[in-house]
Amino acid sequence: MATTLALASSRVVTPEGERPGVVLVAGDRIVDVVAPADAPADTATDHEDLGDQVIMPGFVDSHVHVNDPGRAHWEGFDTATRAAALGGITTVVDMPLNCLPPTTTVESLDRKLAAVHGRTHVDVAFWGGVVPGSEEHLDGLAAAGVLGFKAFTCDSGVPEYGSFAPSAAAGLLARTAALGVPLIVHAEDPAALATAPADADPRRYRTWLDTRPADAEVAAITTLLDGVRATGGRLHVLHLSAADALAPLADARRAGLPVTVETCPHYLTLTAEDVADGATDHKCAPPIRDRANQDRLWEALADGTIDGVVSDHSPAPAEDKGLATGDFLGAWGGIASLQLGFPVLWSAARRRGFGLSDVARWLASGPARIAGLRRKGAIVPGADADLIVVDPDDTWTVDAAALAHRHPITPYDGRRLTGTVRRTYLRGRCIARDGALLQPATGQPRRRDEV
Ligand SMILES: [Zn+2]
Repeated sequence: MATTLALASSRVVTPEGERPGVVLVAGDRIVDVVAPADAPADTATDHEDLGDQVIMPGFVDSHVHVNDPGRAHWEGFDTATRAAALGGITTVVDMPLNCLPPTTTVESLDRKLAAVHGRTHVDVAFWGGVVPGSEEHLDGLAAAGVLGFKAFTCDSGVPEYGSFAPSAAAGLLARTAALGVPLIVHAEDPAALATAPADADPRRYRTWLDTRPADAEVAAITTLLDGVRATGGRLHVLHLSAADALAPLADARRAGLPVTVETCPHYLTLTAEDVADGATDHKCAPPIRDRANQDRLWEALADGTIDGVVSDHSPAPAEDKGLATGDFLGAWGGIASLQLGFPVLWSAARRRGFGLSDVARWLASGPARIAGLRRKGAIVPGADADLIVVDPDDTWTVDAAALAHRHPITPYDGRRLTGTVRRTYLRGRCIARDGALLQPATGQPRRRDEV
């Protein structure tokens, strides 16, 4: 197939690093990345030199609660994927809970696919869910193309999505291993969680933080790693917050166990010391911890113990988020930040001496590997032509009301950030430019064997 698009830049971020180059696209795939002198003349219908604006792989966000169908008044495929496209995310993987019904049966997945149809601006794939009593549906969901299965070891926050004891969750690894997919786990041990004292002030962040100690993450992860050792099943640890769990995770990886780990921008850029009383837009579980903990998460990103950074975008309306009362114990736990992952992470990463290749690894190739999306997350021949163009030096101020997700709530409101996504290409087509969507919803739902 002839080249249909050729994008040149002095800075193309490939798995080998940043270099001058021309990304050659034919249809929906990348066919090559060549040196500027080697770019074929006159073959491209659309040839453009972007100068020193940076070409990066489209980001992959493997942890998004779209909540559609069923709680689409919290979020939805149209609004969430608009935010994704504008934020440089070309693939979203939807979580199986907070939607109704949860994605624990093939019928639920079918209803989700119906909700997606014609309403997604980026490609979307799906995690299946497993709750006590739904195990019989694992085979069918795997055959229907979910990427893996999500389990909780503590209360999920919604009544319809039950949890397993940590040892029972570890036992699920035998089932998921047989299906060839990962078990992805919200890992906090309920035995180590605490109830706030009756006289504690629910508006204080400390009150919430004290109910979710780091030991709860360490205990659950330790039990799950025992399950990996016993079964050989692949474990993915969701939204790691507690740095104390890094040592057992690093040991497991050194031993060659099939374990991956993600963290989120909020754990890397917000700190418990800075969360104001009543600022329930910062509530999530596990919680945002202190600055010393955060420094250790960055070290784990640098040494590869943590594979990727994902949003865990989990929005809710203002009344559920407790913004009027400031009640941390009653508020919905979830951070809304889908569109902001790149500038939030990059603003902090550059201050810590990291480069855009690191950011591409954390926001694109790492999450793609976690989710098993072989054609996503890297600028390499054969991959989907999911590309973004960024200005890494542009500095701007977040206005929550200007973001595309459904409710104008985010803990980053008013923050000065550096880094702007100028363009987003989905499978060779420019779908967003300078903050505006250019196409109708051209994203596709994708099965595990299609990506
Ligand atoms: Zn989540």
